[in-house]
Amino acid sequence: MSYSYDPDNIFARILRGEIPNDTVLETDHTLAFRDITPQAPAHVLVIPKGPYVCYDHFANQATEAEIVDFTRAVGRVCTMLGLDPGAGGSGYRLIANTGSHGIQEVPHMHLHILAGRPLGRMLPRP
Ligand code: 5GP
Repeated sequence: MSYSYDPDNIFARILRGEIPNDTVLETDHTLAFRDITPQAPAHVLVIPKGPYVCYDHFANQATEAEIVDFTRAVGRVCTMLGLDPGAGGSGYRLIANTGSHGIQEVPHMHLHILAGRPLGRMLPRP
């Protein structure tokens, strides 16, 4: 089954400039902006500009240029925020909620970058 992209999802509207955002970084194929409901002192969402529903959709169907641009943008945001341990930062967590079990709310591919405090266990104990 292929994915069907909803062009009226909230991130599509942000990309069209219909809803304001707190931009951290914009590149040819990628936008990074602060989450409106931060779950940590630093909480940035990184999204491709293309119409991809979720991570596997993007990874399987995006162009190499889009994938490289997105991946480099994630790295740049981590560096800009001083998070990279290689430069003395305290680290971060990347999350790509996907589908119903991943509890994805917005059907536009996005990566959460969370940081700024110890983030606890990766998942709560069942
Ligand atoms: P998901 O649960 O789909 O992985 O995460 C969606 C995220 O988008 C949530 O963390 C939510 O706070 C964020 N979000 C939803 N609407 C907006 C918005 O209008 N602006 C911004 N900056 N973030 C939003």
